[in-house]
Amino acid sequence: MDCRDYHRQFIDFINDELGFNETSALVSHVMHCEECSSDLKNEYLMITGMRKLDRDPVPKNIPTYEEKIKMMSKKCRREKLFRILSVLFIVASTVISVYFFIKGLVL
Ligand SMILES: [Zn+2]
Repeated sequence: MDCRDYHRQFIDFINDELGFNETSALVSHVMHCEECSSDLKNEYLMITGMRKLDRDPVPKNIPTYEEKIKMMSKKCRREKLFRILSVLFIVASTVISVYFFIKGLVL
């Protein structure tokens, strides 16, 4: 994916409508690509700014761009860890089942 592909996902990212893989790829891209980071930040500020104007009397607490990137990065790390643990759990359950199956055959 190049910068233009990431640009197409900005709105969905801001609206939290991207899947895990897309979010993870986009967050790590904007952490290394200054141009995309700057463009995403501008788009984010514009959209959240308009949302703040739309909401009255008390605007909902909207995270800053930096908070949003940090939050999504953390969320992706948690999700990755959860996926790894799920795979480990499945592998461990399979190994245990096979062990008891073989043990049952032997006895
Ligand atoms: Zn880029």
